[in-house]
Amino acid sequence: MERISSSLLSEFRRFDWFYIDNKANNDILRLSPREARHARVLRKKKGDKIVITDGVGNLCLAKVLRCDRDEILLTPDRWQHFEDEYERTIDLYVVPLKGNKNRFIVQKATELGMNSIIFFHSRRSVVKVKDPLKRLQSFKWIAIDAMKQSKYPYVPKIKLYDRIEDVIMNIPEDGGQKFLFWEGETRVFKGIVRDKSHVSAVVGGEGGFESSEVNRFVKAGFTTVSLGARILRAETAVITAMILLRYG
Ligand code: SAM
Repeated sequence: MERISSSLLSEFRRFDWFYIDNKANNDILRLSPREARHARVLRKKKGDKIVITDGVGNLCLAKVLRCDRDEILLTPDRWQHFEDEYERTIDLYVVPLKGNKNRFIVQKATELGMNSIIFFHSRRSVVKVKDPLKRLQSFKWIAIDAMKQSKYPYVPKIKLYDRIEDVIMNIPEDGGQKFLFWEGETRVFKGIVRDKSHVSAVVGGEGGFESSEVNRFVKAGFTTVSLGARILRAETAVITAMILLRYG
């Protein structure tokens, strides 16, 4: 597939973006009911041009062929691939938080270019996710909306594990340097990322981690790191960690 440059991506940004999950091809495409609703809200009509992306770097300009109550059909131009500008893959492991904070984390993680967001329960988890499939589906759409808003064709993978052991068992071999943000540590995080290609990082929830959990991560190769002498609220710690991981 033809690769596109940053300047062509800027061209694509003049249009509204939509998500499509069927693989890039050159047939007539149908928007999903959710995306079609969005297109109707934006008053798209026959002949309008929009950008469609599959969230894994592929995107194409498409023309609205038909737009009615039941469906929106598109004729795509050629699919092109945009190589992610970030060299470093970042996998973020977080404990689910109370209320709407998880939605906020998924949205910000997408904007800050996390490659995956893995939620997991710890012993002091305040929130237990009850209906994982439904919750993952809703997180997926929050990430897709954030991707469309950012006009950047990558959406993070989102997973949910029940226990720390599941996290440790599933850390990829090439998961790179591994960090656990922990308020009990004095070693500052700033400047210690050596791995340019891949980093995995853990942030706890409102209740923090028990020392046995911290030890379990350390035994699995994680380095405990500090975000300063103040104990940050979990959501502040997640945002700060993401920014340092991405731009530090
Ligand atoms: N339960 C802990 C307490 O009350 O002492 C606080 C947990 S804190 C609200 C939530 C998470 O944010 C922690 O598990 C940790 O991952 C992260 N965190 C907060 N402050 C931090 C700091 N100064 N350095 C590193 N991580 C921090």
